[in-house]
Amino acid sequence: MKRIGVLTSGGDAPGMNAAIRAVVRGAISEGMEVYGIQRGYEGLINGEINQMDVSSVADIIQRGGTILRTARSERFLQQEGFKRALDMIENFGLEGLVVIGGDGSLRGGCDLTKAGVPVMGLPGTIDNDLAYTDFTIGFDTSVNTVLSAISNIRDTSSSHERTTVVEVMGRNCGDIALYAGLAGGAETILIPEIDVDISSVCKKIITGKNRGKVHSIIIRAEGVKMSSQELAQVLEDRTGLETKIVVLGYIQRGGSPTARDRMLASQVGYRAVKLLHEDSSSRAIGISGNQIVDYDLQEALNMKRLPETSMIRLAEILS
Ligand code: ATP
Repeated sequence: MKRIGVLTSGGDAPGMNAAIRAVVRGAISEGMEVYGIQRGYEGLINGEINQMDVSSVADIIQRGGTILRTARSERFLQQEGFKRALDMIENFGLEGLVVIGGDGSLRGGCDLTKAGVPVMGLPGTIDNDLAYTDFTIGFDTSVNTVLSAISNIRDTSSSHERTTVVEVMGRNCGDIALYAGLAGGAETILIPEIDVDISSVCKKIITGKNRGKVHSIIIRAEGVKMSSQELAQVLEDRTGLETKIVVLGYIQRGGSPTARDRMLASQVGYRAVKLLHEDSSSRAIGISGNQIVDYDLQEALNMKRLPETSMIRLAEILS
């Protein structure tokens, strides 16, 4: 393969820039031309495609977000938009693509594969919701952002002796809540993978208070069925303790990527380029047990996530 494209799609994630850098510099070192596609599949349809060189990716490894911008594209899901995307790939002579994004973006890559375009999928999402990889690019940074917020909330929560419900992102995956809750010493972690047992949450808050605890931090993943408002109301009614809600929102998506995210992004980015250079068919690249791995793209997306039972049990024991 001599000419490839790279795009970022779906929600942005810290470390996407490090992945773009690895793809661009890796491709050039393998003697390939590399084209940056702006705004994900939407930009592909619009032909927002420019050649990149070594200096296009200078000074970005430490930056959050994505220099290529990102978008969600309805048009790509329609026949006409999809055909236009294929036309653009042909117009620019792109022989393969690197798609950096979450589940939806990689599914888009599968559609391109069926139309004859080899696609390397890199897991770029803070949610950590892709079954084929232990970790996704951006997850570690997001967990660290939540951790730092928890320690600030803990200070004010103790001063006022109140319960705080901290709502974190993750869509239908509880990993951000679980990892940040475990590392941050939260009293209770509520994740979509497990039904909420409100009586045991209340009991934990009250027994904690009885042994002198001055605050309780409850981490609630956004995918949990009971809303934060509902939860706070029930906790206040059933414990008699003032309960506040903090929704962390988009701060979890920003910030300079951690070393772990930069490492992962650099490694998977370079693997993608090597595979394209060898004219490989479409693959999803990730990490398993500290090794960089790649699987057939469609098979990777068919894998099912299992709840992290040992981690969930540990969080319960230690809280
Ligand atoms: P995040 O996990 O951060 O939200 P994502 O990649 O899952 O990222 P989506 O909005 O689901 O984000 O997908 C991004 C784009 O990928 C969509 O706007 C659409 O163009 C394309 N896409 C999503 N789902 C599919 C699908 N099932 N088949 C083909 N293309 C898809």
